[in-house]
Amino acid sequence: MNIALIAHDKKKADMISFTIAYTHILKHHRLFATGTTGKKVAESTKMDVHRFQSGPLGGDQQIGAMIAENDMDVVIFFRDPLTAQPHEPDVSALMRLCDVYQIPLATNLGAAEIVIRALEHGDFQWREIVQKKKEQGNK
Ligand code: PGA
Repeated sequence: MNIALIAHDKKKADMISFTIAYTHILKHHRLFATGTTGKKVAESTKMDVHRFQSGPLGGDQQIGAMIAENDMDVVIFFRDPLTAQPHEPDVSALMRLCDVYQIPLATNLGAAEIVIRALEHGDFQWREIVQKKKEQGNK
């Protein structure tokens, strides 16, 4: 599965704890992240993470573009609800696209724990059917 990891600055510590705790699950998947989040996750877990631009410089939109192509299977996005973000429109757009494409989106640690356990349990295998249909449609 393709998994996107994004954390606003005050939530980066949560993201690091989360990815360290669940490295044993995450390492079986392809990880994508906004710039700084990806750097910190890669440094603390030693996992490979494809890094896009930093969020305020377009990283959220790059992840959004993957969602719009139906190429992202899960989004873990630890938002900071107490701090105004310069790229708030991008944040809203990313979450909107998750809803458009029915992509599981966890915006806090509590929800992410449920999502990661579901991932481990194979509950997102329906996404493989979506991918297969997409590939057949492209032929
Ligand atoms: P960052 O971007 O990982 O580059 O800090 C996250 C964000 O603020 O959207």
